[in-house]
Amino acid sequence: MTIKLLGTGAADGVPPLFTANRLGSRSFEPNSKDFRTRAAALIDGCLKLDLGPDTMAQNQRFQIDPLLWDAIIFTHSHEDHFTVSEIQYALYPFNGNEYPPFTIYANPTVCSMIEWRYPAWPLEIIETRLYEEIQIGDYRMTPVRAKHAEPEECQNLIFEKDGKKIGYMTDTGWWPDPTWEHLEGIRLDAMVIECTDGLVDSGYRGHLALAELEKVLENLYRIGTIKAGIPILTTHHSHLGGSHEELMEAMKPLGIAPGYDGVEITV
Ligand SMILES: [Zn+2]
Ligand SMILES: [Zn+2]
Repeated sequence: MTIKLLGTGAADGVPPLFTANRLGSRSFEPNSKDFRTRAAALIDGCLKLDLGPDTMAQNQRFQIDPLLWDAIIFTHSHEDHFTVSEIQYALYPFNGNEYPPFTIYANPTVCSMIEWRYPAWPLEIIETRLYEEIQIGDYRMTPVRAKHAEPEECQNLIFEKDGKKIGYMTDTGWWPDPTWEHLEGIRLDAMVIECTDGLVDSGYRGHLALAELEKVLENLYRIGTIKAGIPILTTHHSHLGGSHEELMEAMKPLGIAPGYDGVEITV
């Protein structure tokens, strides 16, 4: 299984919209690791994780063919992850399709927002339930609850195929007890986890700074969900939390690395 991070920026991206950019000119260069579009990922070219406002630019940059997506899976309804209007381009009159080539999987909030926006459209929309495994083609996916966007059920996602498991944990916060209990029975082979605030704690508890992420990792090691040596990358970075280089230095002792747009992990 290969997960490719198409976007690794926080909600306002890097360089950010309408904000003095703490990282300066290097984050304006498209090949810089400090150039971050809004968080999204792709598993094996066929499972699309979130569909945010930078979807088109990400497809163009990484030559992604969205006709190969069997599923679009939403984590929650925040606009950096869920741009409902992009869904319309899958159908007539933008092309000759009577049905879109993908199935949508999402929490109840996102499902009802799509149904409200496109009440009569032939979309296949499947509601995903917390801690309940669901089969998506050759993959098994289990959503766990994040401490984010409450009272909405923001979902972090665990994917399994051929005995390998990857966790995609964007917009996380400190997980609630049922998530910790669920993770106790899971052994991940790789993990992508947010580190929105990086080196500067914003005080907002719906995201993680590096100091909090360190505690999350300690706990995950303690309960056996992760073990030393597995690939762990961060995502959803704000420009306020430090540059890629600064984060790399700070994360080295933890055995993890900051993700960047275009990076892949294969397990
Ligand atoms: Zn977000
Ligand atoms: Zn969010």
